[in-house]
Amino acid sequence: MPAVDVIDPAPVGFVELRDDALVCRRCRLAEGRTQVVFGAGDPTADLMFVGEGPGAQEDLQGLPFVGRSGQLLDRLMAEEMGITRDDCYIANVVKCRPPDNRDPSADEVSACRPWLETQIDMIGPRVIVTLGNFASKLLVDTADGITKVRGSVYPYRARPDGVVVQLVPTFHPAAVLRGGADPMAKMRSDLVRAKQALTAGPAGATGPAGLAGPTGSGAAS
Ligand code: SF4
Repeated sequence: MPAVDVIDPAPVGFVELRDDALVCRRCRLAEGRTQVVFGAGDPTADLMFVGEGPGAQEDLQGLPFVGRSGQLLDRLMAEEMGITRDDCYIANVVKCRPPDNRDPSADEVSACRPWLETQIDMIGPRVIVTLGNFASKLLVDTADGITKVRGSVYPYRARPDGVVVQLVPTFHPAAVLRGGADPMAKMRSDLVRAKQALTAGPAGATGPAGLAGPTGSGAAS
């Protein structure tokens, strides 16, 4: 578990972006939060994880995925990808805890999205693993639920250098903790798929915006 939420050297402007986000009051979630949970990990990483929003422990500690879900994510990262959370960057769709752990509303997601988009722009990952319905629907830009969306790799958008960021949707670890062996096995195969997308090397732009349909199922699920 990192003791700090930014590991130097950060991309130019990243620390300033975080400092601005830490005092954000763009939506009503500012009223009930203890603190903004901006993100954690290596801001130069090729791999990002994007979850839904902070829970109680995250709100208290100011770091993403620090409860039981985070412990499971750490374990599966190590077992399926051979990495720790210091090798990637972890963020959420909304940076403040929704009261009583309710789902974030559409206007809250919309208000917070620029923080996430700017994080992605600055970090410049090659692969983003979306954890659960909220992050997957938002970034894949689909109304389909995670059960239907997972199992494929999706192009997100082209970076300035032409490399297309790849999305690998999977279950939220909290859902895996509730769901047992089947979602656990599927999440494991999704993380293998993400590792394969990373090791396959940069993907070039596939169209005017670097966007196309799913690029295949990759690892067997
Ligand atoms: S959830 Fe996002 S937009 Fe809303 S106050 Fe927190 S940082 Fe700002």
